[in-house]
Amino acid sequence: MPELPEVETMVRGIRDTMIGRKLKSLESVPCKCKPITMEPSLGRIRKKIEGSRIESVERFAKRIVIRHSTGHRLVIEPRMTGLMLLEDPPDPDHLRLKWTFAGREKPNQVWFWDRRGLATCRLYTEESWKEWQNSGKVGPDALQMEAELWRERIQSSARAVKVAMLDQKTIAGIGNLYASEILHVSRVHPETRCQQLTRAQIKRIAENTKAILHEAIRYEGSTLSDGTYRNALNKSGGYQNQHRVYAKEGKLCSSCEKETVVRIVQAQRSTFFCPLCQSKRRKKS
Ligand SMILES: [Zn+2]
Repeated sequence: MPELPEVETMVRGIRDTMIGRKLKSLESVPCKCKPITMEPSLGRIRKKIEGSRIESVERFAKRIVIRHSTGHRLVIEPRMTGLMLLEDPPDPDHLRLKWTFAGREKPNQVWFWDRRGLATCRLYTEESWKEWQNSGKVGPDALQMEAELWRERIQSSARAVKVAMLDQKTIAGIGNLYASEILHVSRVHPETRCQQLTRAQIKRIAENTKAILHEAIRYEGSTLSDGTYRNALNKSGGYQNQHRVYAKEGKLCSSCEKETVVRIVQAQRSTFFCPLCQSKRRKKS
C-alpha cells in the first residue's frame, strides 16, 4: 500500500493544482521522525527546479512523476505510508515536504506526508530519467498489459502466480491487496505455478487486472483498517467496501456463498482466496 489505484488517485488529486504553476519553493517541514530519502539533497534539488514551471504530473508504476520546464523530473515513491495532499494532513507531525506556487490562484500549496518515512524523492534529468525507465527495474504498467504480454512475461516462470504478480520487474503497479482480488475474480488459485496457467486463465487475469484496477481508481483507492491511505483532500478511498477476499479470512465467500475465505502466506505476505471458487485442480476452462 499504496498500489497503482491509490497512486493514480494522488496524481489526479494534485494535478490541476500543479500543472502550469511556477514553483516558488520546495521546502522540508521540520519532522522528528526518520527522514525520507532525498537524492540529491533538498538544497541541490531546490537549486535545479525552483522558479521553473510544472509541465505535467503523471504516474509511473507506483511513483508520482512531476515534470518541470527545465526537463527535470521529481519522482516520488510513497512506498508504505506516503501521501500527496492539498490540505488538511492526517496529522501535522509527519508532514515532510511543502511545494509553494507563485501567484494568487488557490490552492497554492501541495504537501507530502509520510508516517513511516520510507518514501523516496529523487530528481532526474530528462536523460537520466529515460535511462532509469529503460533500465528494466520496473516492468510494463499493469493497466497497459494485454494477455499476450502477460504470457510473454510469466509463462516460463516456476513461481506461484501471486508471487510473480507482486514482482515489479515483471508487472508494475500491483501489490498484495489487488493481487488477491484479481486472482479471485479470475478464479485462479494463488499457488498455481505460472508455467501451469492455461491460456484462458492468463486471459482472465489480464482482463480482470485492468477491470479491477480501473474500478478501484473510480472508488479512489482502498483505505484499510489502519486508515493510512487518504486522497489529496484527506478523505478515505471507497474501494475497501468492494473487496471480495482481501482481509476477509473466515468470512463467507461473496461469490459462491458456500465456502469461507482462507488466508495463506506466500513470500512472507498474506494471500486471501476462496478454495471453492479458486480450486487448485486444473480445469479445462
Ligand atoms: Zn467462493
